[in-house]
Amino acid sequence: MSNSVLIDGRQPVIFCDYDGTITEEDVIQMVMREFAPSEWKRIVADILDHRTLSIKDGLSQLFGLLESARRDEITQFVIEQVRFRAGFQELLAFCAIRKIPFLVVSGGVDFIITPVLDRLNAPLQLFCSQARFDEARIQIDMPWLPKACDECKQCACCKIRILEDYPVDKYYRITIGDSLTDLGMTERADMAFARARLLDYASEKNLPVTPFDDFTDVLSVLSMHLESLSFTEARV
Ligand code: MG
Repeated sequence: MSNSVLIDGRQPVIFCDYDGTITEEDVIQMVMREFAPSEWKRIVADILDHRTLSIKDGLSQLFGLLESARRDEITQFVIEQVRFRAGFQELLAFCAIRKIPFLVVSGGVDFIITPVLDRLNAPLQLFCSQARFDEARIQIDMPWLPKACDECKQCACCKIRILEDYPVDKYYRITIGDSLTDLGMTERADMAFARARLLDYASEKNLPVTPFDDFTDVLSVLSMHLESLSFTEARV
């Protein structure tokens, strides 16, 4: 018997942010605090507070502060320091049993995300920017940055573009996020979970989101929703 589930006749798929959502802290800022000269603070302030620098340009500037030769040191640091938000592994196990694809969609960079997620040995897919180490300072390639973009023109990794590869007639799109770069996918979701500043942005736009503190909240809402569906189907 298959354990796969459908919602409204569609395949559920989860799109989940990484920094500050899967992880308790913003990993880019953790790395900068440890490895970058203090100039990183001005760049982050220009991105987040003054809004004078786009995320994509800011990301390149931040990693451009780091020496490529320190790659292994940085990787080891994130493996040791990054903490997952509670319930994350349980949610992954739940999705694996029910064959719900779990996509990590991140504005971050592969070499500080992949080594951390690999420890879980879970069937998830990662969409993010990619680091190169062939120059003295770390360079960033952005495969998920659309060439022509009519949306925010800000993000290094367009989460809307990734979401739209899963058309709404076939997929029930569930999003989980915590900040402004998650707003686009939140607006297009069938079911959206939000925490931190994303809650404020969603309420400004009157978007129906489910607040969550950690993944045990997400798991209980999702499993209740799926159980109620199977109960309805059993009665039909
Ligand atoms: Mg985030």
